[in-house]
Amino acid sequence: MSEPGVSFEHDEETRMIVDNLERFIEQEVKPIQEELGETYENPRLRHETDGRLVPEVVEAIQEVRRRSAEAGYYAMNLPEDVGGGGVSNVTWYEAKKAVAASGVEMAEHVLAGPEGPKPLLLLAEGEQIERYLEPAVRAEKSTAFAQTEPGVGSDSPNMSTTAEKDGDEWVIDGRKQWITNGPYADFVQVFARTTPQEEAGRYGGITCFIVEADEYEVSSLNNAVGAEGMQAELVFDGVRVPEERVLGEVDGAFYQAMDFLSLGRLELGAEAIGYAEYLLERGVEYATDREAFGRPIGKFQQISSKLAEGRAKTYAADAAGLRCAWKMDQGESVVEDASILKYYGTNVFWDVVDDVVQIHGGNGLSEDNPFMRHLHMARILRIVEGTDEIQLNTIASEFAGI
Ligand SMILES: Cc1cc2nc3c(=O)[nH]c(=O)nc-3n(C[C@H](O)[C@H](O)[C@H](O)COP(=O)(O)OP(=O)(O)OC[C@H]3O[C@@H](n4cnc5c(N)ncnc54)[C@H](O)[C@@H]3O)c2cc1C
Repeated sequence: MSEPGVSFEHDEETRMIVDNLERFIEQEVKPIQEELGETYENPRLRHETDGRLVPEVVEAIQEVRRRSAEAGYYAMNLPEDVGGGGVSNVTWYEAKKAVAASGVEMAEHVLAGPEGPKPLLLLAEGEQIERYLEPAVRAEKSTAFAQTEPGVGSDSPNMSTTAEKDGDEWVIDGRKQWITNGPYADFVQVFARTTPQEEAGRYGGITCFIVEADEYEVSSLNNAVGAEGMQAELVFDGVRVPEERVLGEVDGAFYQAMDFLSLGRLELGAEAIGYAEYLLERGVEYATDREAFGRPIGKFQQISSKLAEGRAKTYAADAAGLRCAWKMDQGESVVEDASILKYYGTNVFWDVVDDVVQIHGGNGLSEDNPFMRHLHMARILRIVEGTDEIQLNTIASEFAGI
């Protein structure tokens, strides 16, 4: 039952966690990034020639995750009985937003993302718990979620990867593409068709398998501008896994994953809003300091309007995010809310970064300017976890039944 009335005042726990998290980023994460110095700051030194991150950077990222897990942040949204912190969706939303708003690039690894234990992994049973789920919660192992293929993304039930039963084993054949953390994962959660669509229906007949890193091939990196080195194409060429590697129900993976889609959208919405807040602060600073025609550029209405519009949109997106997180905590369906947040929040981020680059004039376009990273990231966020168009389809279907 939901509480009567509406309150936007955070409880003590949320306030404390977010304050401590901000301190953790300043005191523990920023120094790791600073110690890497040029190796991290300079994209030419950060990557190998194929795009892969150099070993020092991979180790530093793992160190950030481990320290965050030790401090109790990394997977704090998961239940306590698997080593998480059992915090509310509102707290998780605020924490994701605070990480993005910190402006510390390395902080992106503080809270579990696609490489971490997502709720799908909570379906782990028996030996899977000790071997995969618990080490992922402690950030000792990292994973990946492999659904997209060269031929299908949005229309993923039409995947061509298959798994066939052979005695006590499953044999997996197919290629996955754009898999985040694919180059570095200890194990992946790969989706494969196990019963034809004609028999099982569009969303039935898909099973999730846990496959370890030495059992598949990382064929090449998919270097997205702004996230180079993080995604790869994975090849499953007659990969044999025992029955115990099925995660969740045989033929039921798509429905089980759909249950968790809204959380992914809430997380990306929170990140987008956090980044927009960070950028608006930089925009205000620059508009105050930079002078043209004898006055700070912020005195020109065309500049102050960009900041005001950004503020208004970010404020509205944040209200949508909080409402979505709160409804999730009440156990209500948030299919439409999560799509609205993901669609609107990521588009607000895109508008804000474009305007903040404009406010910075030529300096906004410098290769050294960190906003270029945000510009690319904003573009990425409008495509991953359901494109703009897919979110609008969901909203149309939920709202108008079409
Ligand atoms: C940086 C990055 C990280 C990623 N990480 C992962 C990951 O970890 N795991 C994973 O499995 N995948 C991952 N992906 C893949 C991502 O989920 C897909 O790119 C995304 O779902 C879109 O699929 P697609 O690229 O095949 O585009 P398509 O589905 O081919 O779409 C192309 C265009 O057509 C539009 N379109 C498609 N269908 C419709 C429709 N019904 N109505 C209206 N328009 C439509 C789309 O919106 C888009 O504009 C990642 C991608 C990137 C770029």
